[in-house]
Amino acid sequence: MHGCRQIRGTLRSATDEGLVDASNAEEATCPACQRIAENVPAGTVSLRGAFVKQHADELCGLVRNTEELEKSEHPLERLIAISDSADGLDVTTTGLRLAQRIGHALEAAYDGELQIHYNHEEYYVDIHWQRD
Ligand SMILES: [Zn+2]
Repeated sequence: MHGCRQIRGTLRSATDEGLVDASNAEEATCPACQRIAENVPAGTVSLRGAFVKQHADELCGLVRNTEELEKSEHPLERLIAISDSADGLDVTTTGLRLAQRIGHALEAAYDGELQIHYNHEEYYVDIHWQRD
């Protein structure tokens, strides 16, 4: 956990009975945790091609490192999952920025072909990276 839980509700002041009543506090999660819990990505990155199959571990490492960098600047930008598929690797993220950053990091490190498709109305980005 990254400490996003917030306590909402009425916290009585110290002068009021001298204690804090948390009985009606309500737990809330941040938008990133909510997306993870419900598996509703804002970004997907599809890694395709023979190179992906041969270098899956290395590519996973790059994806995770990119998450660490982005998360330290923007805590709501996180990975949801990295999954193996028959065609390569599928990465899902809680934010648009992280997905784009992963796409650009892949291109910078390994060339390949990068395609980015935005859906502005739905706050969604679909990224495709291919290297054969
Ligand atoms: Zn959170």
